[in-house]
Amino acid sequence: MEIKAKIHSVETCGTVDGPGIRYVIFFKGCPLRCVYCHNPDTWSGNNATEVSVSELFSELRKYKEFMRFSGGGITVTGGEPLVQSEFILELFKLCKKENIHTAIDTSGNVFNEKVKSVLEYTDLVLLDIKAFDDELFKSITGKNVRNTLDFAKWLNKKDIDTWIRFVFVPTVNDDFDDILKIAEYIKDFKNISRVEVLPFHKMGEYKWEELKLDYKLKKVLPPLEKDIEKVKNIFREKNMVVV
Ligand code: SF4
Repeated sequence: MEIKAKIHSVETCGTVDGPGIRYVIFFKGCPLRCVYCHNPDTWSGNNATEVSVSELFSELRKYKEFMRFSGGGITVTGGEPLVQSEFILELFKLCKKENIHTAIDTSGNVFNEKVKSVLEYTDLVLLDIKAFDDELFKSITGKNVRNTLDFAKWLNKKDIDTWIRFVFVPTVNDDFDDILKIAEYIKDFKNISRVEVLPFHKMGEYKWEELKLDYKLKKVLPPLEKDIEKVKNIFREKNMVVV
């Protein structure tokens, strides 16, 4: 029987999760519980749409010309897409047969042999590093940082194009020494083509309320421009391309 995935939604013309125009698939399920998550509605498998690999592939290939023309492709995100790595492996195999660019947007927390197989068919990884210190990481996500750091190392070893993402959240992960440790850790990884510093925003707050979850950042404001620049400079000083 064909594998089915639990999907939250799709975006047919995404422009922020990788290069070009992208077919973006939001998968359900995530082992983390980030305090600033703007997609808490993806955490559980509730209210998911179930879809098979062939169904999803025949949908996304309708956009193949847009992707090709714009230098785009598909991006799997979530939630944590690699919770459903078996499905993604089959999907990416089909994409690579048709020269469709494949990207994964991940926290790197799910890291196992199946995920390593998926990476063989992956052109780009958007790896979100939320903090370096294990205690700090745990206070933000509820889990350990080890897998994320090992994941980053593996991407370097396999020379898989990677964009590092750092969501900068005042009062949560605004310890500049900790950010420097992230920069130190990745500075020699030649596979990293850019670092994206993403300022915290509150656009997902209403979802926490709808789900009756306790949103702890009600009083936290987006970061100041000067602090965003300071974070960017930490990575720039390690000779990294920062956007
Ligand atoms: S990893 Fe992403 S989807 Fe999961 S809780 Fe954190 S921000 Fe939300």
